[in-house]
Amino acid sequence: MVEALRNPRLHGFGTTVFAQMSALAQKTGAVNLGQGFPDTDGPREVAEVAAHAVLNGPNQYPPLPGQPGLRLAVAEHQERFYGLTYDPDSEVLITAGATEAIAGAMFALCDHEDEVITFEPSYDSYSASIAMAGATKKPVLLAAPDYPLDMDAFRAALSDKSRVILLNTPHNPTGKVFTRAELEQIAEVAIERDLVVVSDDVYQHMVFDGEHIPIASLPGMRERTISIGSAGKTFSFTGWKVGWLTAPADLRNAVMTAKQFLTFVNAAPLQPAVEVGLRLGDEYFHGLRDELLAKRDRLQRGLAAAGFDVLHTQGTYFLTCDIRGVAERNNLPNTSIEFCLALPEAAGVVAVPSEVFYSTKEAGRHLIRFAFCKRDDVLDEAIRRLSVLA
Ligand code: PMP
Ligand code: GLN
Repeated sequence: MVEALRNPRLHGFGTTVFAQMSALAQKTGAVNLGQGFPDTDGPREVAEVAAHAVLNGPNQYPPLPGQPGLRLAVAEHQERFYGLTYDPDSEVLITAGATEAIAGAMFALCDHEDEVITFEPSYDSYSASIAMAGATKKPVLLAAPDYPLDMDAFRAALSDKSRVILLNTPHNPTGKVFTRAELEQIAEVAIERDLVVVSDDVYQHMVFDGEHIPIASLPGMRERTISIGSAGKTFSFTGWKVGWLTAPADLRNAVMTAKQFLTFVNAAPLQPAVEVGLRLGDEYFHGLRDELLAKRDRLQRGLAAAGFDVLHTQGTYFLTCDIRGVAERNNLPNTSIEFCLALPEAAGVVAVPSEVFYSTKEAGRHLIRFAFCKRDDVLDEAIRRLSVLA
């Protein structure tokens, strides 16, 4: 029989680490701090709009670029938080989560043999989307523990085939927030080389140190940047899979050409709800950040007390630990995949091995990631269980 997964571009991708680790948590009864999803749903007033829409419509295909009200709300959100202006009719696209925006961008912007610069570690869908587009990933390592942008490595990754820079700030899984100086350096290269920047800003409202600076807001960058957001992250409705992008019309239209054959459109009754979410008052967005900051500190203290070497997180809802010390003291494997497979039995907790986010595996071999977007009692239970490692 012909091998089912025949497309060589998908070879080696297997099942995502998130699905694997969530299944492990389910099987072992471990506290799941692996896959990044909140265990509390988002604002009730937003959910109510969705519930009303399911019962009363709209439930049929929305317009290809998304419902006009949501597109307007996306444009207003970009203006309100970052002073960026976009035309809701020609420069905004609603997508099936940020995931589709990223995939659609890769399919639309890359020809075979084009190269996409990424910063590693990186979110797992990047590699797969680049591969499915037939393009080549050129990773630039952000080295733990501080993950500074190494300009020599960045410049070394560039070639005549470079086409796109795929940026993510705040950054999953490291929690790094790119500084203005770093973004300026990236912008300088993008302009000099005439590259498009696809900026995955899904954690834009989860910044604890400094501020989120969309690279589109730097001089000369609006015209070459696609900025991506996610209602899953911003409103804690990850299962809704509603995302958006803002970009100049030519880039927006390019992605829309791919998008129309991926999903065409999505989530009609959820779109008016996300529209209401984007118009919530500042207290909502500040509240989200403050709540997560308190959770970061809670888990950080607990992990440190359990003997982990906890790296600093500036944004997102993830914390990274170096496991070498704790592994040695507890006679556990000190490589991240094996450690994460052993952790449910050793301590009843699931984390994600950061190694899977690296192509240079060695760089992530001793790092694991915990998600802290969980109820305080869940975090406390995880901390209590992990204390056996202290
Ligand atoms: N980008 C990053 C960096 C993420 O962590 C996620 C999380 N799922 C996504 C994109 C995908 O977002 P969505 O669920 O909206 O597709
Ligand atoms: N973005 C989330 C994470 O990084 C989950 C993504 C997923 O399950 N595909 O954990």
